[in-house]
This record gives sequence, C-alpha cells and structure tokens, in this order.
Amino acid sequence: MKTKKGIGVSPGVAIAPGLTLDTEEFDIPERHVPVDHARAELGRVRKAMAISKKEILDLQKKTADRIGKETASIFDFHLGLMEDKVMQKKISETILGGSVTAEYAVQTVLRDYAKEFRNMPKYLADRVTDVYDIERRLLRNLIGQSRQSLAHLKQDVNVLARDLTPSQAANMDRGHVRGLAIDAGGQTSHTAIVTRALGIPAVVGLNDVTAEATTGDTVIVDGNRGIVILDPDEATLEEYERFALQQVEFIHTLDALRDLPAITRDGHEITLLGNIEFPAETQAVLEKGGQGIGLYRTEFLYLGSDTEPTEEDHYRAYRQVIEVCENRPVIIRTLDLGADKYTQSRSRTPERNPFLGCRSIRLCLQDLSMFRPQLRAILRASIDADRQVSMLFPLLTNLMELRQAKSVVRDVIEDLEEEGIDHCSDMPVGIMVETPSAALQCDAFAKEVDFFSIGTNDLIQYTLAVDRGNERVASLFTAAHPSVLRLIKMVIRAGQRHGVSVSLCGEMGGDPQFTMLLLGMGLRTFSCSPPAIPEIKKVIRSVTMEESLQVARRVMGFDSDQEITNFLRAETRRVLPEAFA
Ligand code: PEP
Ligand code: MG
Repeated sequence: MKTKKGIGVSPGVAIAPGLTLDTEEFDIPERHVPVDHARAELGRVRKAMAISKKEILDLQKKTADRIGKETASIFDFHLGLMEDKVMQKKISETILGGSVTAEYAVQTVLRDYAKEFRNMPKYLADRVTDVYDIERRLLRNLIGQSRQSLAHLKQDVNVLARDLTPSQAANMDRGHVRGLAIDAGGQTSHTAIVTRALGIPAVVGLNDVTAEATTGDTVIVDGNRGIVILDPDEATLEEYERFALQQVEFIHTLDALRDLPAITRDGHEITLLGNIEFPAETQAVLEKGGQGIGLYRTEFLYLGSDTEPTEEDHYRAYRQVIEVCENRPVIIRTLDLGADKYTQSRSRTPERNPFLGCRSIRLCLQDLSMFRPQLRAILRASIDADRQVSMLFPLLTNLMELRQAKSVVRDVIEDLEEEGIDHCSDMPVGIMVETPSAALQCDAFAKEVDFFSIGTNDLIQYTLAVDRGNERVASLFTAAHPSVLRLIKMVIRAGQRHGVSVSLCGEMGGDPQFTMLLLGMGLRTFSCSPPAIPEIKKVIRSVTMEESLQVARRVMGFDSDQEITNFLRAETRRVLPEAFA
C-alpha cells in the first residue's frame, strides 16, 4: 500500500480499480484473451518491437545528422532496452501467465521498470522519462487505430493521468469514471473545475502517481483530504468504505436545506446561484437549492464537442438553460476560450505565455466570426419578457474592450432587427472582474455596466503571479492573500457606491471557509458549483451579519495569508464542524 499526498479539488471518496493514462491517452484496462490466443499476442509484441526498433534507428540517424553523434547516443538506451532479453521474457511471461493482451503486458512490465529506475541513484532515475517514451512507442505501434477513449469505458475505474485537458475531462464517461488522480494541476485549474462540476472526487498535484500505480490495482481517491492510496490493505479499505458512507449521510442531511432560504440568523437574505459548464447541470443547481445560474461557462460548448458549434447549437443550449430556470436569473458568460481552454476544431496556436495571451474577450474581439453567432444566439434565446437573462464578458483589462464588445452587441441587434428575427434588445451587461486592472478601475467600469461578477480564480492568478494550474506553485495560490482580499473589497464597495450589483463566481465562493468573511465584506450574491451550494447555505444560515462583520474586520487587520487562513478555519469550524470531520 502506498499513500500519495496531493491537492483535493473535488470532494468525495472513490474506490475502484486504477486505470492509468499517459499523455497520449493510451488507456489500457486489464483485458484477458482466450488461452489459445496468447501466442498470437506474443507475435504482436514481436512485430511492434521490430517496428519500434526501426523507428528508433531512423530517429537516431536523423538526430546524428542534424545535431551530432553525442546527442544521438541517448537513443542507445532505447535500443538497449528494446533488445533486453529480461524485459522481453517478462512481457512473454505476463502474457502467457495471465492470458492478457499484449498492450496490458507491455504497459505493466514497462511501468514496473519505470518504478525501479525511479528508486535508483539520480543519474539513473532520469531514465524514467526514456522508459515512458519506449512504452508509448510500443503501445502506439501495438494499438494503431484501435485506441479506446475515456468516453467509452466498460467498467468503473479511478483514472490516473499525468495531466488531463479540460476537454478530456469534459468528455469522460460519467457513468464509469469514479475518481481522478492527476500528477499535474492546481486548485482552480479548469480540469479541477470540471471534475467538481461532474461531482467526481479528484486529487491533483500528485507529481508521480502514474509512475507508481499499476493499472488494475485498487485505488482510493480521497478528494476531501487530497490523498490517493494505491493498493490499500484490508483495514484501510474497510475504513474508507465506512467513511464513504458517512459522507453520503452528511450530504443527505444538507439536502434538507434545499427549499429553505439562504438567510442569516439575523434576517439578511443572500442570493445563492450556481456555476455550470453544460446545460444539463442546470437541474443540479436547482436540486441543490440554487436560485438560478450565476455563471454559465459557455466555452464548454466547444470543449465538449469535436466540431465547432453553429449559431443553432448555441441557441439550443441557452434555450435549454433558460427554460429550466423559468424566471430565475441566468448569467451567460461569452466565450472564455484560450489559455488552458483550447478548442478541438481550432488548431492550438502555440503562444509563449497563453494565460497572458489571446484568450477570452481578446480572442472574441479578434475573431468576430466566432463571437457574433454566440451573441445572436444569446439575444435570440432570451426573448421572453419575464426571463432574467444577462450577458457577462470575461477577462477585461480596459474600458476599450468593454466598449468594443458592447458595440458588437449593438451591431448584432441591428442585424437581427433588419432580418426580422425575435430577440432581446435591452439585455443587462456585466463584466467579470478577474484582473487586477479591472478591479483597480472598477469605479470607471461601474459607470458602463449593469453588474460585476468577481472571478477569483483568475484574479488570484494575476494578482499573485501564480499559475492557477501549476502544482509546483499551488501552495502560493490562495484567496486569503491580503492583496487579493483588498481588491475584492474594493470591487464590492464600488458596486455599493454606484448601485451596481456584485456577485462572486470564482471557486472562493464555494469554499465555506470564506463565506463569513465575504458576507462581512458586503457580498450579497454567491455563485458556486452545484455540490457546494448546500454547504454555503448552511454557513449562511448559521451566522449573523454582526459576527460576519467582526470576522471581516479582524481579517483585514492581518498581514499574512497564513494568519488569515488559520483564523477563518477556526471560525468556520465553530459554525460547521461537520465540514472538517
Ligand atoms: C474565475 O476566473 O474566477 C472564473 C470564475 O472563471 P474561470 O474559472 O472560468 O476562468
Ligand atoms: Mg476566469
């Protein structure tokens, strides 16, 4: 049994056989073949090895010609391993002994090799990457076109991956993926957000879980504590089975709050909305007691499909959300593509620094052929007078972007009028405040928008210069940093001064440790992922505004995020001990 510590990004416990993916998404479950087919599997391995060897020799020659013999000699190790009799024997024994597929045997044996290298002195430990490389090459030559994907699994699994893109996560087979354990990633990476939205327990930032795991072994993913246990012993397994049951019971007790208002003990009413990525989640928001949609991340329309959505695809998705919500608020954010949210149909144009590159509103303003159909669809989908639909622009850094975006909306309205197509012509428009520049200039923005939505995920990333998806700096990524809190307070205050409503839709809004602080800072609208809604409501219903004001006053006096985190944890534990069970 091995315990790995990472960052828990989606709560819950999942116990299932592990399925290790590599970056090329090879996905090799343990599959058996009839005993008399095992010899044929051996033949497949030999053939794949011969092809791989030829590829490596070609590569070595090309490298020698282009870069020099010395660099080309790194492939000697690859050739050596390919010819290694011990390795070949192990693969044969695995196939014949267990009547398993060639792919499964190659993966198992090479991952064992990788594990052995990892425990060797440093100069040999670096060979692990070469072993992965060889494994990938062999698998590629074995599998050819018949790669399975995460969308079509046959049994329940906990997926272990070095990294997973948001679109891979979005396309996972929700029926069979029980949990996720990922080497890379941070608390608010978009992959983490998708796992939370799907309600799949997940731990990221594990560094080397894929190297340590063997496909098929039992894996426990504990998203609450940020722990992954490989091959657990009996006692641990039993303990976790009990814990998983307790969790289900705790969630049931929160369900009782569903129809109760989000109101503090001294009578202050709070609006509690949900974040969604897919129209189908709208129902989950309402079932969890959310009062509408505070953030609809529409870019997942692109990320969840292989083809570029048409205006009608946009329209159908928005109409579905609006109809399910009836007359509740729905805030549709315009496309926030780019950075770590790439489309599949659009080729990924390499950028040196994609989070500071052509993403979100910048991309939309540069590509009106993508932006305009979305705007048309939003306006067309919101024709009913009793519906409260608004439009939200992401990642603004200056007023010109806002003015340009609004002018595109005006153009689109004119076109729809000329074409005689029904549409909404006076939709409220808001901006995500998720860059320090927008927060610092919120007074000016307030004069030109109807509402603000604070996006703490990006606001933290850009204020603290910490990549939200990088596990190596994950400990520096915190909403409790005094500079982040000052910016949030500034935005809430500006909203109050100008009569512009302010909501908060970053992951901070779904973290109960910050609820009292945000109430005390004056926030009256929270938007969070559906599973977080009941817990946030529970905190709101357990505190008074007076207490929250005191918490905010104390916090604003601290100088370090550690002091703030410790203080908020203690205060939250007082009102919601179950969350820390
Ligand atoms: C944010 O940045 O806080 C936010 C809500 O948007 P996203 O996570 O989609 O970037
Ligand atoms: Mg953002």
